[in-house]
Amino acid sequence: MSQIYDVIVIGGGPGGYTAALYAARANLSTLVLEKLTPGGQMGTTDVIDNYPGFPEGIGGFELAMQMKQGAERFGAKTELSEVISVELKGPVKQVRTQGGTYQARTVVLASGAHPRELGLPGEGELRGRGVSYCATCDGMFYRNKTVAVVGGGNTAVADVLYLSRLCQKVYLIHRRDELRASKVYLDPLQKAGNVEFVWDSQVQELLYGETVTGVRVKNKKTGQLREIPCDGVFVAVGHIPNTELLRGQVELDEAGYVLAGETTKTNLPGVFAVGDLRKKPLRQVVTAASDGAVAAHFIEEYFSTTVKENG
Ligand code: NAP
Repeated sequence: MSQIYDVIVIGGGPGGYTAALYAARANLSTLVLEKLTPGGQMGTTDVIDNYPGFPEGIGGFELAMQMKQGAERFGAKTELSEVISVELKGPVKQVRTQGGTYQARTVVLASGAHPRELGLPGEGELRGRGVSYCATCDGMFYRNKTVAVVGGGNTAVADVLYLSRLCQKVYLIHRRDELRASKVYLDPLQKAGNVEFVWDSQVQELLYGETVTGVRVKNKKTGQLREIPCDGVFVAVGHIPNTELLRGQVELDEAGYVLAGETTKTNLPGVFAVGDLRKKPLRQVVTAASDGAVAAHFIEEYFSTTVKENG
């Protein structure tokens, strides 16, 4: 019979590794299952300025590796393997991955979210040929070129600021005339010099040959169409939670976010949800990390009550 872990954490982002750190430090056998590389979305963020303790900011990947090492110092293990199905209802949970099946008495769901697509014709096939969902991953391919960023949230403006340092010109295309992003970004955006705001505009069409050559946008107020020539389009229009595998087992809201309150407890005993896949008002590295600590606290409670009672 294979080992039954005390805790399996699905997803190695800040929420997952904080849960792993606290659980391992509480002497619970802990395994983190991560699809690709630690860090989740944080791992592909250029600079994190709003995680406390780093007065100069810190690279997202660097912070991810430090979180992983912090959890490993107390004995947490990591397996790089994609989870393909879960059975979370019984007292011993089954987590099937491409590398085999793992068992645990508790599971922390920490698989985050992925970028939403615009849903335009050609978008899928142009991925890697002018369409990108990650400025810090792909920005360097557009050095001294012209790019457009679509969206008005924190991801979009962080992408614009990052790209404005690399590219000749950056268009920010937003469907309203006001950004959703934190006000702190406004001043640096205005100072950037090579950023042009395209307000009230929706991208109607991607223009392309072998690669992207531009976008056609429609002004929602005037109805006017405009072609914007560019070499790349960075899509930053929000995220979709990675909760497909959980459907039918864990309670989700209409958008697919896991319903778990501040305790991180889901509807299933022994199953906890942390970070961006949980329904919550603010999705940040620090709130994901906070969730991880809270989950471990209630996992300890679960072991001292439910598991003890069941033997
Ligand atoms: P978000 O805050 O949900 O913003 C999505 C943006 O895309 C909104 O401006 C929205 O427009 C626009 N949008 C949505 N669907 C669209 C469509 N079909 N066509 C055109 N535009 C569309 O998502 P996010 O920026 O990815 O951020 C996700 C979470 O991560 C947030 O909680 C955010 O605060 C956090 N985050 C924080 C930081 C940071 O603090 N440094 C950095 C990155 C992300 P409307 O405004 O009109 O709805």
